[in-house]
Amino acid sequence: MAANWKMYKTAQETTAFFDRFNSLVESDPKPEIVVFPPALCIPAAVQATRGTRTEIGGQNLYWCKEGAFTGEVSGHMLRAAGANWVLVGHSERRQYFAETDADVLKKTHAALEAGLRPIVCVGERVEERKANKTEQVLVRQFAAGLAGLTEEEFAKTAVAYEPVWAIGTGLTATPQVASEAHELIRGEAAKRFGREAAKQLCILYGGSVKPDNIEGLMKETEIDGALVGGASLDPESFAKIVRAA
Ligand code: PEP
Repeated sequence: MAANWKMYKTAQETTAFFDRFNSLVESDPKPEIVVFPPALCIPAAVQATRGTRTEIGGQNLYWCKEGAFTGEVSGHMLRAAGANWVLVGHSERRQYFAETDADVLKKTHAALEAGLRPIVCVGERVEERKANKTEQVLVRQFAAGLAGLTEEEFAKTAVAYEPVWAIGTGLTATPQVASEAHELIRGEAAKRFGREAAKQLCILYGGSVKPDNIEGLMKETEIDGALVGGASLDPESFAKIVRAA
């Protein structure tokens, strides 16, 4: 279960979140939990989750280790701050920051080189779904975002299926629609990395996941977990989602 906080919360608010959240989930050994706070809050999040099973990730990275790239944060820096994971190719990065498939690929490789586990986000826009282009978009984004990975690197990588029309809109994909997309992605993974590796691939669903729709989604065997935005900002709400999973 992953939480994408986007551009919400200060370091103080991060600490306050975990003060409450840790006690709500600590009695269960599963599922794995990863929280993606804003980069500035990573040290506070790492500190607040020390000794718990929650891991911390970055929401984005730049592909160079260091250099004259004003405003950017590298995978190496995220790792040094205590992050273990990083989101790559989130649709908001593609939409508002003009990230291309080629950028996503460089970021996936940079994340792995830095010792971070990438979650590569893929998903179609509403007009692409209406034009029956969902399959084409998912195949292209999957191939472009994970090209050239070794088997070992692929085993460290997860994928999030996040239909753009479902993000922050309250329009969740039905479990069946999500499951079909996951099956397609797993099929692509099998073609490129083999059936066993594809079986092991963790595919998260993201898009308006809430405490009242998580159970239906998690009943689908194709859905391994969720990437939760808005509903992860409140500790009670995210803990309910974690427990339902
Ligand atoms: C996201 O930002 O990855 C996301 C899925 O957002 P939300 O849950 O708010 O739709």
